[in-house]
Amino acid sequence: MDESMMRHAIERKREGGALSTATWESMVAAYMDGAVDDVQMAALLMACVWRGLDLEEASSLTRAMVATGATLTYPDDVFVVDKHSSGGVGDIVSLVAVPIVAACGVRVAKLSGRALGHTGGTIDKLETIDGFRTAISMDDFVAQVEEIGCAIAAQTEAFVPADKRLYRLRDRTATIPCIGLIAASIVSKKVAGGAAAFVFDVKCGSAAFMRDPAMATSLAQELVAISRSFGREARAVVTDMNEPLGKAIGSGLETIEARELLRGNADPRAREICLRIASEMLEVAGVDEPHSTATRALENGTAYEKFLAMVEAQGGSTAAVEGLSASSQCAEVTANASGFITQIDAVALGHAARDMSARDRGAGIVMRVRAGDDVIAGQTVADVYGSHHDLARIANAIKIGSQPPTPHPLVYATI
Ligand code: URA
Repeated sequence: MDESMMRHAIERKREGGALSTATWESMVAAYMDGAVDDVQMAALLMACVWRGLDLEEASSLTRAMVATGATLTYPDDVFVVDKHSSGGVGDIVSLVAVPIVAACGVRVAKLSGRALGHTGGTIDKLETIDGFRTAISMDDFVAQVEEIGCAIAAQTEAFVPADKRLYRLRDRTATIPCIGLIAASIVSKKVAGGAAAFVFDVKCGSAAFMRDPAMATSLAQELVAISRSFGREARAVVTDMNEPLGKAIGSGLETIEARELLRGNADPRAREICLRIASEMLEVAGVDEPHSTATRALENGTAYEKFLAMVEAQGGSTAAVEGLSASSQCAEVTANASGFITQIDAVALGHAARDMSARDRGAGIVMRVRAGDDVIAGQTVADVYGSHHDLARIANAIKIGSQPPTPHPLVYATI
């Protein structure tokens, strides 16, 4: 594609027309080899934000992006499932759901990202376990999935390089918020990972990428539709992110919370979402009675054994997992009035915990309350671990009022 053809494509999209599969393919390839520059691509992206992409276009863009990098494949008789979260605070679902599903006999191959903004990253959490290697060769990754049943590793630059470049440009040009572009970006990375089925956990609420349930549901529908256009089975669950998922916030503390959940000491809200996502993963793999199967694996300890097997295969040890502990320094945040917890600002808490855990992996925040709880003045509402904290910033994020807030559902929709 040359400059003049790209100009026609921009005009067509600007006027609300759809671009052909061949146009998306040649446009992405030309962008990667330098024949299309950032100026023209940015104009096209803005036209996409205004006009949207139909399903065929989003699927064509996804395919064109996948073609720019490496892809993983598994033997025909090895059925592999993957999951994706759109990002939240205290989101330990991957650490818990992956070993549950593998313990039920379904293989899971999860390529993950790092923390972004206020949201935590699965890779950062796993790296708080001494020795755990997240940068493993893709041959070792595939072999581990086949032998142990699960692996979680860092997504490398080899996969979908077009997404990295396009995402950077979208970030610079305020063109991130477009369902078709977001869905193509997410699904391209899942397709390149080679799994036969995907489950998407689309977070929705004040601390999520998608604040509004209708928008989150549209994204969920698009993720499923694009995945199916690639012949992959897919499910999406829209889940609440108006407050932290569990109690812990901060990479090391979240890994401890995941360990405790796998050992049966669970925060009920985190447990419910982990089991829900795990059972959707089992369902797309064709397992009967997926929820009770997942619950059994959690309760009989086989999920925790699978987690330890994964840790050992990736360089860590049981002793390293069991030795993880919160920082010995702890301060309490107390309620400054009696009333109800009306809001927990998970964005502020996510930023605060990220700053703290970057210096000390045992540092972070453990919540003692949830939105809607009633408290009395002076009661402890959060424990803050580590020495480098700003208690006022954390206290400010926990709002108390005289009326209880309207409760949010834990699950908004399943697609
Ligand atoms: N997450 C992604 O991977 N891509 C987007 O475009 C937005 C969120």
